[in-house]
Amino acid sequence: MQRRRAVGLLSLLPLTGAFGLVGCKREQPYLQFEGATMGTRYHVRFRPPVSSFDATAMQAVVDARLEALNASLSTYRPDSLITAFNEAPVGQVMPIDADFEHMLALSRQVHQASSGAFDPTVGALVKLWGFGWPKPEQPLVRLPEAAAIEAARVRFDAIAQSAPGQLVKHAPVQLDFSAIAKGYGVDLIAEVVRAHGVQHFMTEIGGEVATQGNGPTGGPWRIGIEAPDPVVTGRVLTRVHLSNGALATSGNYRNFFEVEGRRFSHIIDPVSGYPVPQPPVSVSVIAPNVALADAWATAFMVLDEDRGLAVAEKNQLAVYWVYQDNGGHRTRQSSRMQPYLDAAKH
Ligand code: ADP
Ligand code: MG
Repeated sequence: MQRRRAVGLLSLLPLTGAFGLVGCKREQPYLQFEGATMGTRYHVRFRPPVSSFDATAMQAVVDARLEALNASLSTYRPDSLITAFNEAPVGQVMPIDADFEHMLALSRQVHQASSGAFDPTVGALVKLWGFGWPKPEQPLVRLPEAAAIEAARVRFDAIAQSAPGQLVKHAPVQLDFSAIAKGYGVDLIAEVVRAHGVQHFMTEIGGEVATQGNGPTGGPWRIGIEAPDPVVTGRVLTRVHLSNGALATSGNYRNFFEVEGRRFSHIIDPVSGYPVPQPPVSVSVIAPNVALADAWATAFMVLDEDRGLAVAEKNQLAVYWVYQDNGGHRTRQSSRMQPYLDAAKH
């Protein structure tokens, strides 16, 4: 199984449109830094508010915040709060922190609005299908038995907050916030960067993006949505123009696994318990924050084409789908997406 990100970042492309607010005041040149997190890397590119700006100090705050998030929500860590919750017996009250509570609340919101297409209680199914953590000792060679799939079923209703900071399960369910936590991590980086007085920045973790203000060429940031290609990275299909925004993409064209000669998506349909048989190649979503965009992008991988469009319109989301089509690809978008793409054509 390969895991690669599905969005290329092309924020440095020159702009010809006159969106800039560049006055006669001398602007600081843009700076950038990056680091490792959540099995991938984060990037921050920003215009410092003053020439004496201490980017190293800001990066230390970013790293500490991401570390706290991972200590709570990483299913890859044996000592995280989420691992403790997943390993706890039914009925045992477990401690959770504010990040954990926030992820539960946002997840419930998207779960309800997507009629269950997004469900963070997919943890046991993710492990059963062999793409969880720890990685199975051997890759999955046979499809799981129907009884095992049934036993690993989602049950978001079996999780309850008995009191603030406390969580209990009434059935042996396991949580997995992989489809929302990266986006939330980007929201947290953006919060730190804003708190340091920075007004123009773009930050991302593995292709989930937050922007504010202008890019280095003076107009809104330009984010490339990558063309589907299992081998070549970085070919751009279209560009999204984003000033103050949150964009996330869920992609399937490099992230899949094979069992018994069949190709499976790493996105699970919570209703069937099986990987989604023919998901879109990728779905990109613009939402009020990156956590929501991330969760919704995953939900739209589960929903079929017509349901997906209806749900996007009902929830007033800007969504861009890429589908496989006779060896090539075709795209579809919700009505709210158009302005971001139109602007990008300038
Ligand atoms: P990526 O990890 O490639 O950025 P996503 O944000 O779509 O992609 O997250 C996919 C991960 O989310 C899976 O690897 C799995 O751990 C988990 N997951 C799979 N299906 C669902 C689902 N229907 N709802 C919530 N989480 C899911
Ligand atoms: Mg997601």
